[in-house]
Amino acid sequence: MSIFPIRTFPDPVLSMRASDVIDFDADLRRLVDDMLETMFAAPGVGLAAPQIGIAKRIFVADVGEGPFVMANPKIVSTSGKWKFEEGCLSVPGRYWQIKRPEYARAEGVGLDGEFIAFEGDDLMGRVLQHEIDHLDGTVLLAHLSPRVRRQVLKELREDSLGIEGTY
Ligand code: ZN
Repeated sequence: MSIFPIRTFPDPVLSMRASDVIDFDADLRRLVDDMLETMFAAPGVGLAAPQIGIAKRIFVADVGEGPFVMANPKIVSTSGKWKFEEGCLSVPGRYWQIKRPEYARAEGVGLDGEFIAFEGDDLMGRVLQHEIDHLDGTVLLAHLSPRVRRQVLKELREDSLGIEGTY
């Protein structure tokens, strides 16, 4: 198993739609082992394959009830509204109050290609939505208001240019 470097915004792999997992083989199992190790080391509660540079529709997560993996997942129902402080390993060190549906149910397939579903509210519903967003090329900045997003993009640009503290 190996820990991968986590890609950070604006790495282009984070903005593309990932492609379906087709081969449920030993390579996929190895990828999932590496993703879990990378997620736990970060530490994070979820990690999508594009975050380690692999544009495949698969993510791992653990909201405290044990690790799980979903391939080719989609959100099939949501309800309610919940504003919660949300961060992303690909936008490190930053958190925002983001409003999303409180409950979500996702359906997809497991490592043997078998049908699986996960659902929940609070953190579970949030993680399902956040990780599946990644597979569609959406980072959490897309959920900020236009005004806040403009400001954040400006700060991130300045950070990457190393303007602050460089003379
Ligand atoms: Zn994320």
